Amino acid sequence: MDKIEKFPQLVPVFQNVENIIGKDTYDMWLRPVDVSFENTTLIISLPNQFWGKTIRERYEHIIKDSFLKHLGVEISIIYQIAAQEAPVPVLSAQDVLSATPAVSPVVKKIPFQSRLNSSYTFDNFIESPSNRFAYKAAEAAAHKLGARENNPLVIYSSPGLGKTHLLHAIGNQILKDNPDARVLYMSGEEFVSEYIEALQNKEAESFRKKYRTLDCFLMDDIQFVSGKEACTIEFFNTFNALFESRKQIVLSSDRTPQQLEWDERLSSRLLSGITTEIKRPNLETRIAILRQKRDSINFDIGDDVLAFIAEGIQTNVRELEGSLFRLVAYCGMHSITPTIPIAKELLADILTSGTDKNINVNTIKKIVGKRFNIKMEDFNSKRKTQSVAWPRQIAMFLVTDLTDLSLPEIGREFNRDHSTVVHARDLVKETIEKDPFFAAEINQLITDIKAVDNH
Ligand code: ADP
Ligand code: MG
Repeated sequence: MDKIEKFPQLVPVFQNVENIIGKDTYDMWLRPVDVSFENTTLIISLPNQFWGKTIRERYEHIIKDSFLKHLGVEISIIYQIAAQEAPVPVLSAQDVLSATPAVSPVVKKIPFQSRLNSSYTFDNFIESPSNRFAYKAAEAAAHKLGARENNPLVIYSSPGLGKTHLLHAIGNQILKDNPDARVLYMSGEEFVSEYIEALQNKEAESFRKKYRTLDCFLMDDIQFVSGKEACTIEFFNTFNALFESRKQIVLSSDRTPQQLEWDERLSSRLLSGITTEIKRPNLETRIAILRQKRDSINFDIGDDVLAFIAEGIQTNVRELEGSLFRLVAYCGMHSITPTIPIAKELLADILTSGTDKNINVNTIKKIVGKRFNIKMEDFNSKRKTQSVAWPRQIAMFLVTDLTDLSLPEIGREFNRDHSTVVHARDLVKETIEKDPFFAAEINQLITDIKAVDNH
């Protein structure tokens, strides 16, 4: 969605869509399309018909809901196929027959799909002490493909700190230096699902071949491959084949290689190149990132407001950017200049207040679990039976009430998105107001939780 920057008010709308359908699905189906927006009509430009069918059937209602929620408008959607840059003429049978036989038929080479997102580059990645080593290692890997000292490169960090950005930046840099290089970006989730599909279609061999011819393999979120026996083996084989032919491998993970709990051989190979962590950015870096985003969308917003947002969002660059876009969209729609009070009001659900409440999520889960007799893992499971769902909602409410975590952070603690947390919080609040016995029970839980943490 390169053109979305022309429509800053759409950024939070699509951010919300991404939150709902998940980043990988979003990257797969929505990031490659372009959109424009006039009155209440959204025009989506697609690479091909098939794309439109998928978006219409699976995601159209989510997009519409998201417009309603964020911009308060009911929209209609028009799909159009994006103009090809250089259309390939369709030859009729006659053309073919009358063509001079001396000319051998030109076989049009299907370009290799690298799946890279061109908007993530080294240039627009802010270097800072928290990511410097990862940044330098990524640059080195891009410039000296497959060199022993940089291979494999493993980058890990908690979510939203720039792993995906750096992986794409490496790929984009390689293609800039050599447009014919075979670079493939893929998430662990895609690897797993494509491998399973290949097995079902008895195409495991061509699946394998595809990877073994690469110059650089960028695999994001490799934690998804863990724990799935056949996929781990396939990954191991792919990894070894590339590694032994000195092809560059770059991997990212949301945990350390040790925590992936892979078998000894794979772990030691993973650790044989460079392993580097991206840490949380400091305040100056967060401000620098916001400044860069502001300049890229060309919106008038003061440094004081940027500093205020940067103070309030400390753990996740994605949320930092999301907040800026939300503020820009709101102020753009109402033709007002962003100020700190507006930011404070609009971002109240996500800014941390800075007060140090020392209660952690596990304590809350433990106490609530004990009271309702449910297991720790039930808080994160998909089970929806009332006996589990209600205590889970109570725990979510207590976390919103007793900790400083943002809604998306709380969502992650329960393996859900932030809208589920909002729903749980409001439902429990409502019940407390209506039912004094329930209110007393919640008070007791709070007392118990505080007692544990005071020990
Ligand atoms: P991760 O893959 O670690 O979850 P991402 O690479 O998706 O994180 O980063 C989340 C967002 O934050 C992206 O839009 C990315 O461009 C941006 N971002 C993260 N770190 C930086 C940085 N140092 N400079 C500029 N943008 C950044
Ligand atoms: Mg990522």
